Amino acid sequence: MSTTPIIQPGQIEAPSGDIPFIYISPRDNVFRDRAGRLRQLAEGHVMKDFLLFMAELTEAQHAALAVFPKAELPTEAEIKLCREHGMPPLSVQSWPRNTVWQEALKKIIVDVMRTATPATKEILLRLQALDSDALETFATAILAGEFEDVDLGAAPFVAAALQVYWTHMATTLGAQAFGANDISNLCPVCASPPVSSILRIGGAENALRYLCCSVCNTQWHMVRVKCTNCESTKGISYFAIAGSSGAVKAETCEECGTYLKIMQMDKDQYVDPIADDLATLALDLMMDETGKLRSGPNLFLISTSAMAV
Ligand SMILES: [Zn+2]
Ligand SMILES: [Zn+2]
Repeated sequence: MSTTPIIQPGQIEAPSGDIPFIYISPRDNVFRDRAGRLRQLAEGHVMKDFLLFMAELTEAQHAALAVFPKAELPTEAEIKLCREHGMPPLSVQSWPRNTVWQEALKKIIVDVMRTATPATKEILLRLQALDSDALETFATAILAGEFEDVDLGAAPFVAAALQVYWTHMATTLGAQAFGANDISNLCPVCASPPVSSILRIGGAENALRYLCCSVCNTQWHMVRVKCTNCESTKGISYFAIAGSSGAVKAETCEECGTYLKIMQMDKDQYVDPIADDLATLALDLMMDETGKLRSGPNLFLISTSAMAV
């Protein structure tokens, strides 16, 4: 394990006035690029089969988003009110979720069934047998971060469909619809915790750090050298896997005892908040040994133990 500071404490990025607060990936790219990245990461990886299957699942998300049915969105007045009060208009807790996300789930199941192993097929058939109410209960548990009683094998597929639904809404409304959230470590669009953070390159976002939503794929700005969980600026350290490119590090906080991965586009421009997280599980295992808890979930790999709540 090696530790490398990304920038020195005290080095503050500026100017805040011109910083684009929200970055939303183009609708046509988000899942397709991620699927490509997963395939790239799978090459020669010890978890090759897993990453390739995740690529299939992500490809299915791309296809489901492309034909996503018309779904109700907040009105302009509601969006304005939320912006004025620093509230996420599409909160996973309070937005009246439309069952239309289940259409995406059905499509995803059919798509991934084609190449699934017998064990995964069994999970998919189990999921297909659930009625609409049971799927809503499942979705509510995942979005609330209550993973104790959920079917962990089936959870990635339900999460994948929910990601498609929320990504549909976020990309339809666009970045200009959303303002800053009062709680800076939750997504300003859907109030979910981040899966990881990313140092972006290019355009107005160059060299800025964004937190990446675990549900709707929105990225929102947060200054560097600050814990993404408790906002402490003290006791922040960075750990990378020895011998790696250093494009993915674990950012740890002594104050709250948590970590979240940070991806650097200047070291690898193709890093993806979810794909690169899945491909660096070794880093999670290292953090687990230090007793640090992860502060945000990857919904493709939820666990009931190693999360800070
Ligand atoms: Zn979100
Ligand atoms: Zn902290």
